[in-house]
Amino acid sequence: MRTREEYLESLKSMKPNIYMEGEVRGREGMPGSEIMEMTCELALNPEYQHLTTATSSITGETINRFNHIHQSPEDLLKKQEMTRVATRMVGGCIARCMGCDAMNALSVITYQCDQAKGTEYHARWLEFLEHWQKDDVVGCCAQSDVKGDRGRRPGDQTDPDMYLRIVERRPDGIVVRGAKAHNSFAPLAEEIIAIPTRFLRPNESDWAVAFAVPGDSPGVKLVVRGARYRDRIPELASLHSGKGECESFTIFDDVFVPWERVFLAGEAEFGGQLALLFSLYHRHSYTGCKPAVTDVLMGAAALVAEYSGTAREDHVRSKLAEFISVAELVYGCGIAAAVKSSRAPSGTQVPDVVFCNVARKHAGKNLYHEYDLLADIAGGLPATLPYDTEFASPEVGELVQKYLKRVDGVSAENIFRCYAWISDMTCSSMAGVMQYAGVHGGGSPIMEDIAILGTYNIEEKKQLAKFLAGIKD
Ligand SMILES: Cc1cc2nc3c(=O)[nH]c(=O)nc-3n(C[C@H](O)[C@H](O)[C@H](O)COP(=O)(O)OP(=O)(O)OC[C@H]3O[C@@H](n4cnc5c(N)ncnc54)[C@H](O)[C@@H]3O)c2cc1C
Repeated sequence: MRTREEYLESLKSMKPNIYMEGEVRGREGMPGSEIMEMTCELALNPEYQHLTTATSSITGETINRFNHIHQSPEDLLKKQEMTRVATRMVGGCIARCMGCDAMNALSVITYQCDQAKGTEYHARWLEFLEHWQKDDVVGCCAQSDVKGDRGRRPGDQTDPDMYLRIVERRPDGIVVRGAKAHNSFAPLAEEIIAIPTRFLRPNESDWAVAFAVPGDSPGVKLVVRGARYRDRIPELASLHSGKGECESFTIFDDVFVPWERVFLAGEAEFGGQLALLFSLYHRHSYTGCKPAVTDVLMGAAALVAEYSGTAREDHVRSKLAEFISVAELVYGCGIAAAVKSSRAPSGTQVPDVVFCNVARKHAGKNLYHEYDLLADIAGGLPATLPYDTEFASPEVGELVQKYLKRVDGVSAENIFRCYAWISDMTCSSMAGVMQYAGVHGGGSPIMEDIAILGTYNIEEKKQLAKFLAGIKD
């Protein structure tokens, strides 16, 4: 496992291929770096190691749990708890789950494809896994293709590059072309894991492609944007001020991938299964991170109510109960998904489809409602709060502090800090990204319904209705 410094050194050694704000740049100072650094730190911190480390199923060594292939229900439970704990610590997305979820999905599908087709993907993937675990690699998942016309399939697009595809097969590897959108934290990842985004027809085999490439490979161009919390003067800085996150529009401009890093190349039916399984693992990760986001919003709501003198009001208490019901129902479903998980032939533990998807659906549906609850309890000040510079200003600071005061016994500084944090969470560019991530991360909402309906036994419920109604046919 690596220290934060070792991780940063590795990023520094990567070639500059980040296109951002008019420059071509390297990875230093990228918004969100501290979040990935935290995933290294937590694995080295004895207080958290019972959650943040695991025993590698291939080497028996202790590894970062974000690089582990889940072997048991216990592993899934620990990943979920680790995700909640780590997300709470950074106050938002913990970012390293995408690579973890993609690797777990690949462990299952490469094995199944080999069994069905006599291919050699699993052995290759196992070799890559050894590097992934031994070198404590930070990875991201590039799944969402740019997709062009949503009403047309990959093979029917005017431009076939709208979905990442194989454009050449060589004796030593393949050449891929296309672009993946919304690629979270890609500039902070050493390896990009690319997988298909949807079910594919037999005639769409060129789009059934999965592989891993170093993020600075020739032809890989990361077109990046980011969001940051507002910076503050040092005396009023919070844990996160000035920090942020980033996503990439990741372009594969005829990228060569050697065979040893290719994990699917043309087996269309397994492309769709891989897409679905990544989403399943990612939705299970959401059962850890989304309750943590609710914890963060709920904590702020409870604190601001206390500072404002409204904590005992019935409507405030009932809103806090709403937060609790969202957090713990989603978390509870994640636990159920682990308890009801099954073991794939590869030996990887796969969470239950229905519990993962109902959790993600419940979380997504309530997301804007939770912001609504916090906005209601906080009043309008998060939107209009004076800047930290005026709070500390020699000219107006004293007056700003006098008029910010609320209940006795709470300093103006603490009231300012509380409101500034709520403002960061709800009225910033970071807030906007978090909200969209809460709706679309892991797939747009309809995908949850499709997964639930594709798995759930509604026929059995109809039989129940017939039994109770006395219908015999
Ligand atoms: C902040 C953030 C971070 C993300 N991080 C990652 C990441 O790290 N890696 C990654 O791979 N992805 C990531 N995603 C992508 C996420 O999975 C997608 O946003 C999601 O799958 C929706 O795809 P889209 O954005 O292209 O929207 P669209 O697919 O355009 O969806 C918009 C609407 O159109 C509907 N629609 C689209 N196609 C059809 C169709 N054929 N039939 C009927 N309805 C249709 C959808 O259901 C939806 O209602 C991230 C997204 C966000 C917002």
